[in-house]
Amino acid sequence: YVRANNLTKRFGDNTVFEDIEFTIEQGEFITLLGPSGCGKSTLLRSLAGLNPVDDGEIWVNGENITHQTPQQRGIGMVFQSYALFPNMTVEANIAFGLKMKRWGTADIQREVAKVIALVDLTGKEKHYPHQLSGGQRQRVALARALVVKPRILLLDEPLSALDAKIRKHLRQQIRDIQKEMDLTTIFVTHDQEEAMIMSDRIFLMDKGEIVQAGTPEAIYTQPANEFVAGFMGHYN
Ligand code: ATP
Ligand code: MG
Repeated sequence: YVRANNLTKRFGDNTVFEDIEFTIEQGEFITLLGPSGCGKSTLLRSLAGLNPVDDGEIWVNGENITHQTPQQRGIGMVFQSYALFPNMTVEANIAFGLKMKRWGTADIQREVAKVIALVDLTGKEKHYPHQLSGGQRQRVALARALVVKPRILLLDEPLSALDAKIRKHLRQQIRDIQKEMDLTTIFVTHDQEEAMIMSDRIFLMDKGEIVQAGTPEAIYTQPANEFVAGFMGHYN
């Protein structure tokens, strides 16, 4: 599980979020949904250890990770823009995290081959990022996050730069892989439809607060307040 206790994050005198609380069960697929600027990316980066929180605690399976480095947390993260190394092949991009952990060559080759098959990039091993489509690049980014066998997968609008058809395909693929690996996942989007289709539960965020947490059906049919009703009402 992932447990957030009273998480607070400020940049100077701008409080991005305050007293955020939630529990996510093992294997759950959570979508963090909300308007631009409400604090989704900042919260995700705080969970990953890239933005230390000012107050509160983060627990994973009974372990307090609040003060751990990003590397110690065992969290995989994929960003909106493909943060791949342009001068490395697909294979080398994916192997990078394992090399950093000083894995042996044979083990690296085996694990990299596994995730390449998993994300459907077989045949692209020797390609460079500029030789790939946007969807393929995002699959490399996903493979790179998965290869280190993360305890938690954090996805920050990984599909928003892609066209509609590829987006739908990748949604399904991410969900299939996540289920197969029983991976606790937090997926950020500001697309209501995407949230409705993909999630076990949606955390709807507004101005640094989680205003409602529930199944897609509950959020849609029993909105907790006018903001939720209005925000979900745009979904058709
Ligand atoms: P979007 O949907 O546009 O990506 P978001 O919900 O991810 O929005 P955040 O990027 O988390 O929003 O930003 C939330 C608030 O935190 C904004 O007011 C933003 O200006 C502020 N903020 C984010 N990162 C920093 C930073 N490094 N320094 C100062 N302020 C920041
Ligand atoms: Mg963001």
